[in-house]
Amino acid sequence: MKGGFGVTNCCPHCDAAASALYKRTPGSEANRTVDPDKDWFCRDCGTAFDDPDERERRTPANTGGGDLASKLESMDPADLGGGEA
Ligand SMILES: [Zn+2]
Repeated sequence: MKGGFGVTNCCPHCDAAASALYKRTPGSEANRTVDPDKDWFCRDCGTAFDDPDERERRTPANTGGGDLASKLESMDPADLGGGEA
């Protein structure tokens, strides 16, 4: 592992993140309108498939992009401290 955020499942067709993937469980046939014999379904591109691909996470799974940590990271250090009140 290359020290990033690990790997996550993704759609083999459109590379959608795991949050867009739907794991079909036995008994959920009502949702199987596309390729009922496939276990996974991508809500982004509407494709069913047997197993998701894996890829490296690009962002931490628990952030929406607007959290404090990423804001601080993108700020210039000069803005964070020093200076007069
Ligand atoms: Zn997809």
